[in-house]
Amino acid sequence: MSFVKPKKGLGQHFLTDQNIARKIVDSLGSDVPDILEIGPGMGVLTQYLLQRPELNVHVIEIDRESVAYLQQHFPTLQHIWSEDFLKADVAGRFDGKFNVIGNFPYNISSQIFFRVLAWRNRIPETVGMVQKEVAERIAASNGSKVYGILSVLLQAFFDIEYLFTVSENVFNPPPKVKSAVIRLRRNQVETLPCNENLFIQVVKAAFNQRRKMLRNSLKDLCEALPAEFAEKRPEQLSVSDFIRLTGMIENLKNNKA
Ligand code: SAH
Repeated sequence: MSFVKPKKGLGQHFLTDQNIARKIVDSLGSDVPDILEIGPGMGVLTQYLLQRPELNVHVIEIDRESVAYLQQHFPTLQHIWSEDFLKADVAGRFDGKFNVIGNFPYNISSQIFFRVLAWRNRIPETVGMVQKEVAERIAASNGSKVYGILSVLLQAFFDIEYLFTVSENVFNPPPKVKSAVIRLRRNQVETLPCNENLFIQVVKAAFNQRRKMLRNSLKDLCEALPAEFAEKRPEQLSVSDFIRLTGMIENLKNNKA
């Protein structure tokens, strides 16, 4: 069977540089055996995953032509799910913990990270190649222009490392943007010292109107915001500031009730 023809609608940009593929797989450190690769394509990462005897490799791929290619070229690959990652109850299929890896389809990379966040107690480590801008956003600290919802929510539960930048020239076809590989490792925080659903609501509401002062953007969640935060904008708050602010809003609500 010849090579898979790249389909634009599926975000297919196949990595052609073996050294980079190996470096991505080598970035995975955790000793949990179950691993899920999202969007394996022609298996440039998969081949190196299969070389690690301690790993139990699962892949999920939406493109049937790629699935057929994988079946033919990797007879030892036992778990190929021919499915849309966004529609699959992936966490339900593993008994315990599993790690995640992939050169992610860039059109759904944010959605992949929201899934990783939701399944955070099952996923100790994620190594993903994404658009450079997305990697920068996820790793950004407060004060940065690109600091946003995913930065705060992911950093609350993961230690995040921007590992390296990847040129557009090592893909077929080359994407319009540069790429980067990031690693997320679950941190020690089991539960936040505040209501976690409210925390998510506060972060989303604050950044959905990022130019506004918090007393305006959070009006629906809290009528009289504590003075310390009232005139701040979301990019000024660290992750722990958001946690503290959520706790204060929670107390105000409880006192009123
Ligand atoms: N890992 C390969 C391919 C990366 S391109 C490489 O590095 O060369 C992204 C891959 O994700 C493609 O193979 C595409 O078919 C697949 N993909 C896109 N959307 C998907 C989805 N919703 N679920 C699963 N796979 C998807």
